[in-house]
Amino acid sequence: MAAKATTTIKQVLNHQAEHGAWFAANQVLFNRVTAFYFGVIQAHEKVLALSDKDALTALEKLTHTTQSNPTPVMPLEEILEDIPALFRRAAINAALGSARSFSSHLQKWRKRKEKAEAKGKGFHERPPVPPRAWNKSATLYAGMWKERAGSSMVMKVWTGTCWSWVKVRIIGRDLPTDAEIGSPQLIRRGNQWWLHTPVEKQFKSPGKIEKQVTTNAQTRMCAVDLNINEHLAVCTIQTVEGTILATTFIGGGRRISGFRKKQLGRIARNRRKTGMIAEGEQDNADLWRKIRQVDEQVAHLVSARIVQFAQAHQASILVFEHLGNLKPEKGKYSCRGNSKRAYWMKGRIFNYAKYKAWHIGVITSRVNPANTSRECHRCHSLVIRYNAGERAEGYTPGASLVRCSHCWMQGHADRNASLVIGQRLIARYQTPLKEKPHAPVRRAGREEKSSGVALSQEAKSKSRPSTDLAGYGESNEHGTAQDGLLRMDERLSDIPCQLRLPFE
Ligand SMILES: [Zn+2]
Repeated sequence: MAAKATTTIKQVLNHQAEHGAWFAANQVLFNRVTAFYFGVIQAHEKVLALSDKDALTALEKLTHTTQSNPTPVMPLEEILEDIPALFRRAAINAALGSARSFSSHLQKWRKRKEKAEAKGKGFHERPPVPPRAWNKSATLYAGMWKERAGSSMVMKVWTGTCWSWVKVRIIGRDLPTDAEIGSPQLIRRGNQWWLHTPVEKQFKSPGKIEKQVTTNAQTRMCAVDLNINEHLAVCTIQTVEGTILATTFIGGGRRISGFRKKQLGRIARNRRKTGMIAEGEQDNADLWRKIRQVDEQVAHLVSARIVQFAQAHQASILVFEHLGNLKPEKGKYSCRGNSKRAYWMKGRIFNYAKYKAWHIGVITSRVNPANTSRECHRCHSLVIRYNAGERAEGYTPGASLVRCSHCWMQGHADRNASLVIGQRLIARYQTPLKEKPHAPVRRAGREEKSSGVALSQEAKSKSRPSTDLAGYGESNEHGTAQDGLLRMDERLSDIPCQLRLPFE
């Protein structure tokens, strides 16, 4: 089975100083033309009902003067004569994209308004507004560039006074030779100009999980326990036959949570002051944006680290647990908001990891989350969970250590959970044993469902819910049960565990 992956290759341009001014002029013109077409579309909304291809034809007819179309309704010539067709088309497609997005926002707003009014409620949300300023990067369609070699390219730009072919030198990683090259964009970053080129690669998609698990006992899985405490993610690598190969702890949870709490506290104070509860209030809008940005970046960092770890250890399957339901928390606004956002972030980390993993041929699955923290990864009895320095008894949720009074396994609680998560995936494909030497943890909870993300296949659940894994001990794991706690019995990851968080 083949699949496609798109990435963007980013390269810096090395050019004569005056060319920088030309690129800038080119971009200004591109935005003027895009804004012009956005206006044309607003005046002819029916265009949006057409496909991109038909919309392009319709918009050219409305604007482009030819012999057979001597008097278009809104001539583009009013902006500039002799705009190359490919420049025009790139701008039209950019305008179409913006117009479609604006139109869908507007429709959603109208629906919310109707709904509120039907219920007799007041509706104070402001309608979306069309873009006031345009700051798009010019896309160079084939024909606007030529002679693209490893380290140079020739492209046609508007200099401010005329159209000119310019040769630039390209610095940065080369384009892959085995991929389809898309239209590059000319992008400004400070004083630098960059070329961003989308490339589409065909690759062999990973084999189905069932096949990988049932035909090769050496198949490696990377299991991930996502948390809302300090260790945002704890990942373990194990083979299908049960050898544990590596563990990594991805930290930073406390700092991100502290950051969020601080911002949410500020928002709460602002609200008390103004008596406003709308998220859109300007004072708070900035704070919300900041929180969202940081959450987003952290999710990207953590997911990238997970996939990097899986790849470094040649894992071909990534396993998470289903998120379960968000349990509403009582307490201060900042606490409630924080745990809600932490929960959302887990979902994001999963989605991003799944996407990134797919691109390197690693398939992602999810297992039933019930009691993954309460079960011993070695013998599947219930564990004791406690904090360092406390007596090892009972079960303290969130505590960092576990001990099994059955087989004397002891170790880090999240690492144990991660190993159990990995084993649950294997358990799906095991024929359940008839005898159960240990009382297995009752795995309540609902049947797993496919998460519905288009980019992956979910393994089909075939196993019965309580498969005993007594045969899946750690016979190959170095280290013994007694010293498993502090001696990391596996190869330590060479991937740094501390994230540099974006707000630091
Ligand atoms: Zn045990």
